[in-house]
Amino acid sequence: MEWDYIIVGAGSSGCVLANRLSKNPQNKVLLLEAGGSDAGPLFQIPVLGTVASLGNPKRDWCYETLADPHRHGRRESCPRGKLLGGSSSINGMFHVRGNRGDYDHWAQLGNAGWGFDEVLPYFRKTENNTLAPSDYYGGEGPMSVEFLRAPHELSLAFIQACAQQGIPENPDYNGAEQEGASIAQVNQKKGRRHSASQAFLKPAAQRKNLKVVTHAHVTCLLFADKRVVGVEFTVKGKQQSERVKHEVVLSAGAINSPHILMLSGIGPAEHICAKGVALVHDIPGVGQALQDHPAVSISAQVRVDTLNTTMNPWGMFKSGLNWLVSRQGYMLAAHQAVAFVRTHDSELYPDVQLHFGPFGGEMTANGFELNDQSTMTILANVCRPRSRGTVTLDNSDPYCAPIISPNMLSDPYDVETLITGGKLARRLLSTDAFAPYVVSELGPGVGVQDDADWESFVRHTAVSEYHPVGTCKMGSDVMAVVDEQLYVRGIKGLRVADASIMPCLPSGNTNAACMMIGEKAADLILSC
Ligand SMILES: Cc1cc2nc3c(=O)[nH]c(=O)nc-3n(C[C@H](O)[C@H](O)[C@H](O)COP(=O)(O)OP(=O)(O)OC[C@H]3O[C@@H](n4cnc5c(N)ncnc54)[C@H](O)[C@@H]3O)c2cc1C
Repeated sequence: MEWDYIIVGAGSSGCVLANRLSKNPQNKVLLLEAGGSDAGPLFQIPVLGTVASLGNPKRDWCYETLADPHRHGRRESCPRGKLLGGSSSINGMFHVRGNRGDYDHWAQLGNAGWGFDEVLPYFRKTENNTLAPSDYYGGEGPMSVEFLRAPHELSLAFIQACAQQGIPENPDYNGAEQEGASIAQVNQKKGRRHSASQAFLKPAAQRKNLKVVTHAHVTCLLFADKRVVGVEFTVKGKQQSERVKHEVVLSAGAINSPHILMLSGIGPAEHICAKGVALVHDIPGVGQALQDHPAVSISAQVRVDTLNTTMNPWGMFKSGLNWLVSRQGYMLAAHQAVAFVRTHDSELYPDVQLHFGPFGGEMTANGFELNDQSTMTILANVCRPRSRGTVTLDNSDPYCAPIISPNMLSDPYDVETLITGGKLARRLLSTDAFAPYVVSELGPGVGVQDDADWESFVRHTAVSEYHPVGTCKMGSDVMAVVDEQLYVRGIKGLRVADASIMPCLPSGNTNAACMMIGEKAADLILSC
């Protein structure tokens, strides 16, 4: 059997590709996924997919970063979905396209065809937004996007608080204007999680020309000279290989796509040879340019019930019942509202994003733990961070995790922007809108006043938003890994299509952009 296309990874981008490439019954498509199925209620009840997966090796790759030198040597978990739907089956479901300027910047970097006007048709094609059809929405895509149902009263107060700080309410941050405060648009369908697997794989499941293999861990690519002719993988310990006629597409995500390339001999020559892998092609940028959104939490104790006081066994039962009966309540989402803010007039578009959630807690060695008092949190993050990290080989064993070095906050701009965002979030706590609710600030607390205090707070507490990108970046410079057609430079029959190809982070959460990339990649492949 020779496949026309082999896709590695059934995540946000890979599911879109599998659907689109197999639409023509003439195309024989194989989709290989290292994780298992996403069937069952865990991945229907929105927050359960996240809560039950983080730190669970059956559904999460459970990566951990190196000690980060600019964050006081802290190590951090780096969760990545390991099941059908990939990270879209375990994520926070926020649907954010990013700013027009982000994609125009990609095009300015030499990536023809990736400007906003050129990617907009692909966003439209993936989505079915409950907003009326317009220049921005077609309304016919498989991925459901709806406003979060029945948000908490504190989330509504957040939008008022923003208005009182000069941040206007925005009815649609994915439309003409991103700036402003809004209730979140989420990947849910009538209150159920709608992952890329649910939206794109499920409708294609009966196609005879699409084969989906779960628990298939791809270990390396197979070559004839510098052309990819197949892949090698293991299913339940048994080694197998499959051959391809046209192309292999790597959609294994921002950590695993560069890992598979390096394990296959494609990457920085000196590094991969030092790890005992036979060199196929020297591409110095593989695994470089790792970027993620750094964020700090500003939190307050409040007078009303939040997730903290309701997530006991009885409260969970009631929330579950509420969701079953009305598709409302705490089971829908932890973060519920969002604001995109220009903190300086000189910024052309928002440089800070705020996520609001009626809950509070902290990351511990055992994962995220809720406080035992009613809490709300504003998470402030840098939209376009300048720090860059790396993903490298630890050794040549395909089952051994790669080394993830975030190098977060190495660029002073990121620290300054987080301080500005943190101060803004603190000002929001003391608005009239929050006055009836706030008892006292919990974090950063009264000890943080001048800029030196803020910098210390930022470096001690900043965390990743789990949006890694850039490790197989698209471009034409010497560090670019793929060209604007997503072909791996110097190799035939191989493309990468997932978060790793983004040359720079979009100003917002990354899932929508990954599905857009899958959609555009399918078009590029089918038009060959
Ligand atoms: C906890 C969490 C919360 C998040 N919240 C949000 C949010 O609210 N909104 C948002 O927009 N974004 C969010 N994100 C980020 C977003 O989900 C990701 O950017 C996006 O899903 C990445 O898509 P991808 O296609 O690049 O990779 P993934 O979706 O991660 O897919 C990669 C797939 O490849 C498979 N794979 C990897 N290696 C191999 C191999 N060797 N062989 C076979 N298969 C392999 C993986 O198992 C996985 O299924 C969140 C992410 C996480 C982890």
